[in-house]
Amino acid sequence: MMLSGLLALLMAMVLIFMRRSYPRHLRRGLGLLASAPLLWCLSTVLFGLRGHLPELFSVVLANEILMGGVLAYHVGNQLFFTGRARWKGWTAAVLACLPLMAWFTWVTPSYDVRLALFTSVMGTLFLTQMAFMLRQPTSFSQTVVVLVLGLQSTVLGARLISVFLGQAGEGLMEPGLMQLAYLCGNAVSILMLTVGSVLCATERLRIEFEHLATHDTLTQALTRRAVLRRAEEELARLRRQGDPFSLMMLDLDHFKAINDQFGHQQGDAALIDFTERTQRMLRQTDLLGRYGGEEFLVLLPGTDAATALGVAERVRQAQPTPPALGCTVSIGVATAVDASESIDGLLARADQALYRAKHEGRNCVRQG
Ligand code: GH3
Ligand code: MG
Ligand code: MG
Repeated sequence: MMLSGLLALLMAMVLIFMRRSYPRHLRRGLGLLASAPLLWCLSTVLFGLRGHLPELFSVVLANEILMGGVLAYHVGNQLFFTGRARWKGWTAAVLACLPLMAWFTWVTPSYDVRLALFTSVMGTLFLTQMAFMLRQPTSFSQTVVVLVLGLQSTVLGARLISVFLGQAGEGLMEPGLMQLAYLCGNAVSILMLTVGSVLCATERLRIEFEHLATHDTLTQALTRRAVLRRAEEELARLRRQGDPFSLMMLDLDHFKAINDQFGHQQGDAALIDFTERTQRMLRQTDLLGRYGGEEFLVLLPGTDAATALGVAERVRQAQPTPPALGCTVSIGVATAVDASESIDGLLARADQALYRAKHEGRNCVRQG
């Protein structure tokens, strides 16, 4: 018990340092997730000192602090995953246990009633937590947490049943299979739930970095690297299965005039507007990326030349035309149909087609 408490303490320190180094918008819930193992550690020390400390500390407060830790974990996870938390009902339930625990410790002492109370509140809280975690996106860390919560709920359920069967024994430290299973389950859970929090927090940071690396900050379109990497995958598919794919190169017309006339902020807004309008015209599998400045790329997987031309025309028509504020777009389309194709060659063809579109009056689509 002491060792698991100590390990939980170390993991809590890891979480606290992680939280300190995280950007502010990623810290949500981490403080509570770190305080949970701290409370569990404290309750472990109090439980362990049973016989050396008054029962107020080693029984009543030890149980209450353990429940408080699970509550902090529950609320912390809700904040971490959804940004909102429902905490009032469970806080009231945990606080209501305090006078009841005291009553069944001193007024009518009963280990059985205390145990039934503790296991039913904790078991339900763990099950609620497990149901919540099951609704979160599947990942390795989420699976670890769900499994541990399942294990802990099962052990608590078995303990509750043992009370009704009259098999609960006389106290926590009494030798017996149920006590051993509970103590081991608890030690493993304390450690693994905290490890789970560390894994979830690390995963969140990885997802954030991945998003930053693959998305343009202004328009939230993909970066050119992300689109070109997918284009390489499409080329491999073409070589393997013969599926054609198309690439569009887009350049906003007279964009500089917007900056010059209305300022760069308005120019930025026009870029965002362009991205949104274009995205609406694409299928879910199509990828829109910012090539640089006011130039964009669209990758159309599994799309032949005729269809690509249709998509490009739809995108062009979706843009505001004067006198509306915004700018029209010129588009060059190239389609890869045979295995000897390269991404550089395809880009060059789309670029030449775009150049022709510009020279032939802008606000039009040309195919290369
Ligand atoms: P054309 O029809 O020939 O394409 O004319 P254009 O004015 O669109 O082309 P040009 O290349 O002369 O100007 C592109 C402008 O885009 C210049 C640059 O200041 C502006 N630009 C590039 N990136 C951004 C950005 O992120 N925000 C804003 N506001 N402007 C940008
Ligand atoms: Mg340009
Ligand atoms: Mg331009």
